[in-house]
Amino acid sequence: MINLSHLRGKTVAVLGLGKSGLASVKALIQSGAVVWAWDDNENSRHQLDALGLTPVNLVECDWNQPEMLVISPGIPSTFPTPHPAAEKARRAGKPIICDVELLCTTAANVPMLAITGTNGKSTTTALTAHIIDQAGIKTQVGGNLGYPVLGFDALGANDCYVLELSSYQLDLIDKAAFDASALLNITPDHLDRHGGMTGYIGAKRNIFARQKGPKWAIISIDDEPCAQMATELAREGGHRIVEISVNGPTRHGVYVDDHWLVDDLDGHKNPVLDLRTVSHMPGRHNWQNIAFAYALCRARGIGTNDILSGVMSFPGLAHRQEQIGTIDGVVFVNDSKATNAEATAKALSAYDNIYWILGGKPKEGGIDGLDPYYGRIKKAFLIGSAAYEFAATLNGQLPYEQCGTLDVATRRALDCARADAKADKTGPAGNDNSAPAPVILLSPACASFDQFTSFEARGDAFRALFDVLSSQSTDPEAL
Ligand code: ADP
Repeated sequence: MINLSHLRGKTVAVLGLGKSGLASVKALIQSGAVVWAWDDNENSRHQLDALGLTPVNLVECDWNQPEMLVISPGIPSTFPTPHPAAEKARRAGKPIICDVELLCTTAANVPMLAITGTNGKSTTTALTAHIIDQAGIKTQVGGNLGYPVLGFDALGANDCYVLELSSYQLDLIDKAAFDASALLNITPDHLDRHGGMTGYIGAKRNIFARQKGPKWAIISIDDEPCAQMATELAREGGHRIVEISVNGPTRHGVYVDDHWLVDDLDGHKNPVLDLRTVSHMPGRHNWQNIAFAYALCRARGIGTNDILSGVMSFPGLAHRQEQIGTIDGVVFVNDSKATNAEATAKALSAYDNIYWILGGKPKEGGIDGLDPYYGRIKKAFLIGSAAYEFAATLNGQLPYEQCGTLDVATRRALDCARADAKADKTGPAGNDNSAPAPVILLSPACASFDQFTSFEARGDAFRALFDVLSSQSTDPEAL
């Protein structure tokens, strides 16, 4: 646990008692701070009982007393409407921050690598931490991914924290600076929480703020907002800018040329890895993640050979194009983490012969822009509150079924895949062994909250359905 001794005896307000909020409360108590903690949900407040703490209603309290508000990033502090406690803190002139700010200002001597972007954050973060760990450097990984940062072990100057940061978290830091920061990509997402695209880009840009030294600013130049930010950072000075591209050379950067990962960090174009050999990380989007992890690890002083062996031994992450198994020749792929059209496009581009399960709580723009992949899709199976909106988009372009729930959609998708395979087998051309295997792809292009508590719960439900259907599959000759 992180020791926040500079807050001993000070009053600190904590709003939101999820994983990160609770870890903040524990670290603050252990450091001798006076903690005023609140959550609008009564059940969440009950977690304080075990810590011997009485909840303090942060909307009604005297805001002269707390030094700051540590807010859970999921709770709006500005847009679309600030939580009333955040409003009170702001009016009282108190800083509104998240746990990452406390970690960074407390453990400033520990090397910190920070990663953000609209898509690919978790994969890149986990890959980077895996490589560093395999290289024998003590590391802790967390933030938006997995573990709350104030629950980290205290590390030293030879170690490394690897942080995945969301735009919400980046909006809640104002002193933290990172030794190496990475911005993977920017496409519209969470716009309601940032008051529009400018606010969203501004939050992402905060990952490069206050970098002196010069510290590494590792940034994609493959999309317009990132490319523009790279130009602005160069103009601003003070950073070591490392440009990343999967579309060809960047000067003194790391890039993909043809299918080779090229390291030009020292001004010598060095092709280091044939990316086609990394079969467990398929697709250009994963090449982007590998290029970023490579640059981050070089920033941490790790040699090329250690980085490459870490890439090859990376076990991957659940819910991201995760192949969970095969029933009667039908491959099940769990891409529950694809909560927007951009992420789903990556999965659709990676397979043919797709039975696509999609829907949930829709994001702005819905599934616009996915039509180039329709040729790869046999049929769509719609679930959740987006189902009718998405049906209007698919109408006349793709066959689809309204399924309501994931359970119905998965069963129907398997029925259809089996029926199509049987028809192919008995059709005039007979069984075409060269045809790609049918894939049931859960890649919802939506948030999960209409029917599940999280994308993890949605992916776990899909896996559980797979297990049931797999145990019921009795016909080994089905295909
Ligand atoms: P994040 O943590 O940013 O949401 P993840 O690493 O969890 O990203 O990946 C989520 C989904 O986004 C994956 O299933 C994949 O389809 C897609 N994805 C992964 N990496 C990238 C990338 N670099 N660019 C675009 N999409 C990506």
